Order: sequence, then structure tokens, then C-alpha cells
Amino acid sequence: MNSPIDAVAFASELIRCPSVTPASGDVFDKLEAALASLGFTAHRWLMGEPPDGPTENMVAIRGEGGPHFGFAGHLDVVPAGEGWNGDPFAGAVVDGILVGRGANDMKSAIAAYVAALSRLGPTNGTLSLLITGDEEGYATWGTPRIIDWLNERGIRPDMILIGEPTSVDSLGDTVKIGRRGSVNMWIEVPGVQGHVAYPHRATNPMHCTSTTAPNSSRPRTSSSRRSRLRRAQATSFPAAPPPSSTSASTISSAGPTW
Ligand SMILES: [Zn+2]
Repeated sequence: MNSPIDAVAFASELIRCPSVTPASGDVFDKLEAALASLGFTAHRWLMGEPPDGPTENMVAIRGEGGPHFGFAGHLDVVPAGEGWNGDPFAGAVVDGILVGRGANDMKSAIAAYVAALSRLGPTNGTLSLLITGDEEGYATWGTPRIIDWLNERGIRPDMILIGEPTSVDSLGDTVKIGRRGSVNMWIEVPGVQGHVAYPHRATNPMHCTSTTAPNSSRPRTSSSRRSRLRRAQATSFPAAPPPSSTSASTISSAGPTW
């Protein structure tokens, strides 16, 4: 057996690769090198064009036949944003806590899995890692393309562990069967253009959306905004003419996955 891989040190190494979506290259090189030392063969490929790509996908496999146990995850991260006390891509351990963009979602989980593999003896069946660099964006070139790759080769894991952050207070306190997943969608709501001074002559598509969207997914609004909306909705507007092809407004609801 190889010498065990330290999960924290390896997670830190991955965090030091600033792999903002769409990710490729260095961070995958590091994962492939660690897995190669554990007997995995990595298949890597680039897909997509800017701005959603190119992104890298990787399927690393060891063994053959069943049972097939897979681990699915992503090496890309959302942009660092503001408010850090230090370099978000330093992978520093501060007061015993690994800090950095991707420490939570989800380079630590990948590192922990690799560290566990390094402590595993010979196994029967197949082990695989299905890793994408396009999860935090629109995921156009990510997991769906990995599934295509698997289907084209008739590969179907019997079970998959997903390393997305799930714990509530401490590591391992929560394990879920399945996950909430996400949906990106475009909603087209026709409206009628008008000047802001004459709202009664226009049809604001936002008002239609706020009454038709399910409560659970209604956009959050501030209390002052809500009171203004209530006043606007309480106003009795005359019926607006039907939308023409030149006056239809389009709104969209789409965004990153969490
Ligand atoms: Zn994630």
C-alpha cells in the first residue's frame, strides 16, 4: 500500500489552484497525480467555449466489473468575492480550520475521498471518480457531459457518493440519500412597455411573475419593497392592450447551482 495521503494537506494543495468556473488544467493535474499513485487511470477532456468553457472533465477508474462505486464532484469554485481576512487561495489552516475558497464546496470532500482511498487495500469491482470543472456556473459542460461519456461506454456505477457540503454543525453529522439538485430555467413573461410615470398604461411582467411563481421560489424582497408592491398591486389598473411582438419584455431566472 502507498503511504497515506493527508486529507488537509491535499485539500490545501487543491485550494491553492484558483480554479474559478470554468476550471481546467492545474487543479486536475494535481488530482490526477494523486490518483495515479493509487492505481487509477484518468480520462480527461476539454469541452465548451467561452464564457461557459472551456471546462475540463475527468473520469478516473480503478478496477473492473461490479460492484462499481463512484464518487462525483467538482473542482471548480465560485469567485472569491470580498471580505476575506487573507488570501482565499492560500489554503491556510487558521486556528485549526482549513480556510479558503473551495474548502467547503468541495475540494475538502475530494481530498478526503482520495485520502480514504490511500488507506484502502486491494478492492474488488470498480472504483471511479467523476469530476467536473463546470458545476458552479451553468454546468452546461459538466456532469451531463460526463454522463454522456459513461453512457457511450456502457459504464454505469451501482452507487455514487456525492461530496457536496451537507453537514450542519460538524463533519459527518448529516448524510442524505439524494440531494435537492437544482434547475436553471428561462421564463418569458410578455408585458407592455410604458413610461414609469404612467404605470397604468403598461403591463409590468414582474407583477405577473410575482403572482404566478410558487411561494417557495418567489424572489425575496425587502419590507419597504414589499409594501410598495402591495400598494402597486392594490391599485386598480385598466386592462392593458395585448402585447405586440415589439413590446414583449423578457425576464429570466437562471443562475449558478449551489
Ligand atoms: Zn458544490
